[in-house]
Amino acid sequence: MIIMRGIVKTPANSLLVGELARGCELCMEGAKLVLFVTGMCDRRCYYCPLSEERRWKDVVYANELLVKKEDDIIKEAKLMDALGAGITGGDPLVRPRRTLRFIKLLKKTFGKEFHIHLYTSGTRVNLSLLRQLEKAGLDELRFHPAKPYWHVISLATKTKITVGGEMPAIPGNEKQLMEFAKYLENVGAKFLNLNEFEFSETNAEQLKKRGFRLKEGSLAAVEGSEECAIEILKWAAENSTISVHYCPSRLKDAVQLRNRLLRRARNVAKPYDEISEDGLLIKGVIEPKRPTCTKLIRIRRILIEEFDIPEELVGIDFNKGRVETAWCIVEELATEIKRLIPNIKIGIVEEYPTADRILISYNPL
Ligand code: SF4
Repeated sequence: MIIMRGIVKTPANSLLVGELARGCELCMEGAKLVLFVTGMCDRRCYYCPLSEERRWKDVVYANELLVKKEDDIIKEAKLMDALGAGITGGDPLVRPRRTLRFIKLLKKTFGKEFHIHLYTSGTRVNLSLLRQLEKAGLDELRFHPAKPYWHVISLATKTKITVGGEMPAIPGNEKQLMEFAKYLENVGAKFLNLNEFEFSETNAEQLKKRGFRLKEGSLAAVEGSEECAIEILKWAAENSTISVHYCPSRLKDAVQLRNRLLRRARNVAKPYDEISEDGLLIKGVIEPKRPTCTKLIRIRRILIEEFDIPEELVGIDFNKGRVETAWCIVEELATEIKRLIPNIKIGIVEEYPTADRILISYNPL
C-alpha cells in the first residue's frame, strides 16, 4: 500500500520525500572525505563532468590532494576530521582491489562507524565482488547505471549494504527516471538521489549541442533540471515508497563545500591565519622577486627583529616562495616593510584551506 507522503525541505535546503540516506547527511555536514579512486570508467556519458586532469586517468585523489601513498588518504581524512568517505571516480569498481584495500584501510583506521558510500556505474558488479565489499565494511552503494546494467542492483540488495540509485535530473528524462525509481523500489533499494544537472568545463560543448541552457543566475545548473527533479519528487510522493532526494547544485557549494572547508581550515590554519565565514584562510604575504630559501629566512628575521612581530606570527611557505603573517600586520606595516626590504610584493590573500590552496583573491598593498 502506498501512503501519501509530502515533499520536505532538509535543513540544507534540498528537497526530500521519505528518508535521507546516511551518506547524504554526512556529506551535508562536510564530514565526508571525497576519495577519488580512479578516473577510469567503462561508460562514456556525454555529460561526464570530470576535469581533464582526472577524466580516464588512473589517478587517486583524497579531496584535492593527489595521493602518492596510502598514508596520504589517512592524513587528509584526519585534517578534515572526516566522519566518513564517499568513494568515487570514474568508476571505483574498475579498480576493485584498490577500492577494497582503501575501504579496509579506512575502516581499520577510523573504526566501524566511519561511514563509507561508493558510486558505481555497475558495469563490473557481480555477486562475488559485492560480497567482498560487504565483508570489507562498505555501508552504502549508489548506482548510476545505463539501463542494460540495472539488473545488478538486484544482486546488491541481497547483501547488507544499503543500496540506492544516483542520477542527474536531466530535463526530458522524467519518464526514464520514474521507471528507474520504480525498478529500485521493486528490487528493494532504499533511495534515489537526483542531482541537479550541471555544466562543467569538459561537458559544456556536448550539453550545448543537445540544446541545454544555463539556468538564469546560475554558474553551472542546467535550465529545467530542478523542475524535472520536482516532477519526480511529486510523482514519488504519490506513487512510490522509495525515498527520493533532490540535491541542487547550490547546496554543493553553499553547504557541503563550505562545511568541508571549515572543518579543514580549523586544522590547518596557522596562528596568523584568519578563517573566513566560508572557511577560507586570510593572511598577509610578502613575496621577494626570485625567492630563495636564504631570502625568505632573512625577510622573516627582519620582521621579527625590526618590527617586533612575535615569532609564531611569521611563517614561511617555501613552496609558494613567500613569507606569511597576519593580514592586519601587513596592512599596518606595508610601507615600512617595503622601505626596509627592497624588491618585494606585499598583499593580502584569501585562499582555500585545501591541499591545492587555490587562490581566491589577492589584494596588493
Ligand atoms: S559513469 Fe560517471 S564517471 Fe563514468 S562516464 Fe558517466 S559520469 Fe563519467
